[in-house]
Amino acid sequence: MNRKRVDILGVQIDALTMPQALNKVEELARDRQAHYIVTPNPEFVMQALKDGHFREVVNNADLALADGVGILWAAKFLSIPLSRIAWWARIQAWAQLLIVGAGVVIYPKWLTSVIPERVTGVDMLWEISKLASVKGLSIFLLGAAPGVAYEVSRKLQLLYPRLQIAEVMAGPPYEPEEEVIHRIKQVKPHFIFLAFPATEQLRWMRQYTRELDRGVLMGIGGAFDFIVGATAINDPTKNSKAVRAPYFLQKRGLEWVWRYLTQPWRKERIKTATLEFMRTVLEYKLARR
Ligand code: UDP
Repeated sequence: MNRKRVDILGVQIDALTMPQALNKVEELARDRQAHYIVTPNPEFVMQALKDGHFREVVNNADLALADGVGILWAAKFLSIPLSRIAWWARIQAWAQLLIVGAGVVIYPKWLTSVIPERVTGVDMLWEISKLASVKGLSIFLLGAAPGVAYEVSRKLQLLYPRLQIAEVMAGPPYEPEEEVIHRIKQVKPHFIFLAFPATEQLRWMRQYTRELDRGVLMGIGGAFDFIVGATAINDPTKNSKAVRAPYFLQKRGLEWVWRYLTQPWRKERIKTATLEFMRTVLEYKLARR
């Protein structure tokens, strides 16, 4: 199948809805070789601009799903043409930036004409677990503070009693990496969820996908923490429990505001993913005109 991909500052994103993404992940999980899928957000894109190696790993994924309204915003914004006259193009670009930005809150559906849906890691975890329980596929949960992934597995099992949970591990720094890889090779899960920071997820994917006989590795960042209200290991304050934004904020593309307020230690990262990202996309659009 030809992939319809959208380029956001050099990062290729698959333009798929959740059901289409699920069809594809099932196909990958049943394949005779292992695969990995990524969920780029604006922070990924900013990182990829600085680090060509990171970008290459993201672009070599078998699937790259838009995690973050910023990606939908950028796809839409970049799709609108600009005038050939430089000074006029600059005014146009700023106006488009503001109008598409307002669209995020006022009329989110408008943004979905280029990339049809935001498909987050945490939503994929639920949806893949449901799919796996129906289709008899197994999952492996890896990462977060000790006990967190286990609590997530109990929740999933309650919701999907037939779900095969092959293994649950905290992984580094609590369990050695070699032990984890050894266990993955033993139980041969169809899906391996990695709850690690983005750069670590990509390192695992790059390093181990080729070593495995089958299965889909997928990075989900802090998803386990959101599900059980836990604290991320890398939270420097050690006390902000992750709580997912209310649904109306998610739907209005304002999840980042919630994170800004509830996890103030992320402030700098959120600034990079919003203001800096928008500014960079604007300059890129003007430069490539
Ligand atoms: N984490 C981990 N091992 C580490 C560092 C972090 O398992 O050595 C976990 C952490 O507890 C959290 C996840 O990795 O559950 C990363 O979450 P974060 O919110 O930083 O993800 P991001 O925002 O980068 O997607």
